[in-house]
Amino acid sequence: MIKQAVIVAAGLGSRLKEKTVSKPKGFLELGGIAIVEWSVQKLFACGIEKIIIGTGYHAEAYDELAKKYPAVQTAFSADYETTSSMATLSVCAPYVSDDFLLLESDLIYDSIGLTVLCNDIHENVILASGATNSGDEVYLAAANGSLLEALSKNKAELTSVYGELVGISKISPAFLAAMCAYYEKKRAEFPKLDYEHAIMACASSHPVFIRKIEYYAWREIDDESHLEMARNEILPRIQENESLRQIRREVLLNPGPATTSDSVKYAQVCADICPREEEFGDVMKWVCRELTAVVADPSEYETVFFGGSGTAADEVMISSCVPEAGHVLIVDNGSYGQRLAKIASVYKINHTVYKSSAYEKIDMSVLENEFKTGKYTHLGIVYHETTTGLLNPLDVICPLAKKYNMVTIVDAVSIYAGMPMELSKLGIDFMASTSNKNIQGMAGVGFVICKKSELEKTKTIPMRNYYLNLYDQYAHFTKTGQTRFTPPVQTLYALRQAILETKQETVEKRWQRYTECWRILVDAVKKFNLKMLVKEEEQSHLITAIFDPDTPKYTFEGLHDLARQHGFTIYPGKLGNINTFRIANIGDIKPYEMKRFTEVLKSYLDSIGWK
Ligand code: PLP
Ligand code: MG
Ligand code: MG
Repeated sequence: MIKQAVIVAAGLGSRLKEKTVSKPKGFLELGGIAIVEWSVQKLFACGIEKIIIGTGYHAEAYDELAKKYPAVQTAFSADYETTSSMATLSVCAPYVSDDFLLLESDLIYDSIGLTVLCNDIHENVILASGATNSGDEVYLAAANGSLLEALSKNKAELTSVYGELVGISKISPAFLAAMCAYYEKKRAEFPKLDYEHAIMACASSHPVFIRKIEYYAWREIDDESHLEMARNEILPRIQENESLRQIRREVLLNPGPATTSDSVKYAQVCADICPREEEFGDVMKWVCRELTAVVADPSEYETVFFGGSGTAADEVMISSCVPEAGHVLIVDNGSYGQRLAKIASVYKINHTVYKSSAYEKIDMSVLENEFKTGKYTHLGIVYHETTTGLLNPLDVICPLAKKYNMVTIVDAVSIYAGMPMELSKLGIDFMASTSNKNIQGMAGVGFVICKKSELEKTKTIPMRNYYLNLYDQYAHFTKTGQTRFTPPVQTLYALRQAILETKQETVEKRWQRYTECWRILVDAVKKFNLKMLVKEEEQSHLITAIFDPDTPKYTFEGLHDLARQHGFTIYPGKLGNINTFRIANIGDIKPYEMKRFTEVLKSYLDSIGWK
């Protein structure tokens, strides 16, 4: 799996004259976005975790870009005026620790080239195309099929032309080391050595393959004529190709599984791998660590995951964390609190249910009186009651439970990664969530984030179940780097991509986006004379329960079917005899899409004569 990329971007771009006086070539704009930013986004979409940009000329522009993208870092080549791309690559080399993609900064290209290189079985591969007639071609000659034999800007120097160098390659760390060593030897004599000549020079000791896509849509932009060609011919081709690979957009306004990005969907399409391979163990360890890091310090907390849904994670916590002599107080103010209690009763765990309104704030003084009885060793509670969109004030409740020495078990299924939170600050010892809600991955992974010191204490609790046992799963994974049973491999690859995208967006910004969507919805709901179940200030911003319009003409099916025709899926309410429908805005949903949904809602209300 390729996780790193290097973009060499130090050059002056002098052939573009006034266009590159105040900025480097990578910041030429095409289609309203800098070409290097385009490249960065394509790299992320294909699963790259870290991008190192080798800078020189107008390095400050790239430093700014690195601030915008946390996974981008820059490395400055001080001699950029007197050297070339191999010197730039050399300053990046210390930051590369794995196989990586090497790109030039002045390229526009169809993202399929990245996929093809990542999937190529060979270690060192350079991407090539058929004839471009661009006027600045680097021609490649091949031996024995596709082995790189020679390269030159002068066709006449080659016996035959196999393809043209694109400027995107896949390189192994060993090959990079050889290239850098070669440059060190030659530097005094040829300071302006290009990286492609170092590739050629080292190809005798490390085989380099050429991967050719005959009709590949790409252009390197070195001068005005290239820029024109890129804008008028190549960019439209790239956009068409990429649009052909888009998955039909369905906006899920149900509270999970959530809408996902295409890159998350595509992350599941990958090489088969036996999950017992170390390579996959590394993916799982990375996923666990990063899931923890969303809400806690990984040195203090640990994520343990299972193949299963959110309920599986709830069942893991309830069945594995309460000792035989324990007594858990379970707060029930909606379906999911009720479910926690149901699980406790199925396992015959000593528990008491604390009932509270499903749509009004928990009365803290009454709850505290219950805590004060001293009967309870554990508290079980739902952070965000998805039933109604009521957000329980865990910032008050959990610290209070800690004061009374209770272990806190929290269902955070529908709030984790949707709102910033810090488990240690909140006083949460165990928390459950799933891959398919705010983290924006696919359904199939349920996980529990555990305070390690509390997790260790569960070691002596006799196992009440087998598959869903928390400590057993944790101990086995820690010892072997493998799960006890078959993990959902492709779901985990999608989860890895979803985590990368969460880190890119940040939970803070995701919360803002969710809030923006919610605001659009709530404003429309009020304008349309509809009423909400929960007070606005107690709502989570993630799910809104709306009373059915009080007219016999309203049917949930009518609204659902019209919304579905427009690409929106909505969900009925879930609260006994109170008739509501629910709109969730969790997932990869854009504010303009919520705006469009409110227009569909309006047209439905008009159709039933609602004023
Ligand atoms: N807990 C809460 C708060 C939820 O919102 C959900 C699902 O919506 C669950 C638990 C159960 O998750 P799943 O349906 O994945 O089992
Ligand atoms: Mg060139
Ligand atoms: Mg160039």
